[in-house]
Amino acid sequence: MQSYVLHLECSKTGVIYPADQIHNLSDDGMPLLVRYDLKKIKEELSKDSWCMESAPGFWRYQALLPVSNAASRISLGEVITPLIPLKKSSDVLGGKQGNIIVKDEGRLPTGSFKARGLALAVSMAHQFGLKHLAIPTNGNAGAALAAYARQANIKATVFCPDDTPRVNVQEIQLQGADTYLVNGLINDCGKIVLEGRKQVGWFDVSTLKEPYRIEGKKTMGFELTEQMNWSLPDAIFYPTGGGTGLIGMWKAFAELKELGWLTGKLPKMIAIQSTGCAPIVNAFDQGLEHARLWDNAQTVASGIRVPAAIGDFLILDAIRQSDGCALAVEDEHIINTRDMISKEDGLLLCPEGAATAAGYQIALEKKIINEDEKVVLFNCASGLKYPMPDSNQTIDKNSVIEYSQFA
Ligand SMILES: *Cc1c(COP(=O)(O)O)cnc(C)c1O
Repeated sequence: MQSYVLHLECSKTGVIYPADQIHNLSDDGMPLLVRYDLKKIKEELSKDSWCMESAPGFWRYQALLPVSNAASRISLGEVITPLIPLKKSSDVLGGKQGNIIVKDEGRLPTGSFKARGLALAVSMAHQFGLKHLAIPTNGNAGAALAAYARQANIKATVFCPDDTPRVNVQEIQLQGADTYLVNGLINDCGKIVLEGRKQVGWFDVSTLKEPYRIEGKKTMGFELTEQMNWSLPDAIFYPTGGGTGLIGMWKAFAELKELGWLTGKLPKMIAIQSTGCAPIVNAFDQGLEHARLWDNAQTVASGIRVPAAIGDFLILDAIRQSDGCALAVEDEHIINTRDMISKEDGLLLCPEGAATAAGYQIALEKKIINEDEKVVLFNCASGLKYPMPDSNQTIDKNSVIEYSQFA
């Protein structure tokens, strides 16, 4: 099968770049987006035939991906992630049972949806013959890069803030990446990757600084559309850091619309951030096109501790076009919500995922949505990758055990 990629396009100016060359940002320093020959796809494929049934997980959307053949796929067993309706916890959140659905991305390789983006980025890097990739990360992106780069036999160098959850750092290192802790935040790590480009010769795979991670994240939109039988929810709650997933899903919906396969109203895109790092929320509230750098970013939801996002204007565009909004939630609310959903329904979310559930509660209170509306919350990583409360109940095997206590 041939690729349907036409070219790359600067997301700010629309200037076109050839797809068969290696790119980071556009000449204007903006993210590049992949454009496809949708007319040709429409002629040759249909809504019922465009998916490649034989391909695993999101690779089934090959027609709208830049990796055009199975041999170029770098794969670790990607799966279609399940939709799980909240049960008892939806009562606590204030919604109606059946209307709050979690898309659990923690089931992907390396335990997070970063696998989607990095699988695509590494596959393309492999196709282009790149030998060394580098990334700034709050943990999950580094883990996904490390794993896929090993599969592709490409060297990976990873820089994390020194307070990144331990398990993430250990995972990255164990999966073969050269791993460094930096006494700063993700944007400080990003500066090191940028500045090292010339001297080391590595390729920068930072969020939106190469064109293909977003194509991988886009598959969340395709998957959701298929899983919901082409009838999308009223709103999508997305924990927003660099925003690749939100921008990617919006791009997916736009492509399916342009193909004429997806009709009807699109979901409100609701960006969730922590009150400890909410640059997008601020920019949205103030009607700005770009967000301002957030000082002293701090939150337990490490995946969304992103003080500055290069694609901020794309996130804000998608939110506004969709009639959505951006909401900030307190860390305490995030953790209480994680604990509550775990205890009520046995579904252990990551803090970022729990933030979307907390954000749902706020959206209800603010009447941004109502309880009759169907919503999808994105749980972007396995809850197991984060610190959890200790267990402190003990039994002394040498004393008489009071069995009534277990009843
Ligand atoms: C990276 C990450 C996010 C943020 O995703 P973006 O698409 O970069 O905004 C949210 N949650 C988790 C668990 C992450 O790893």
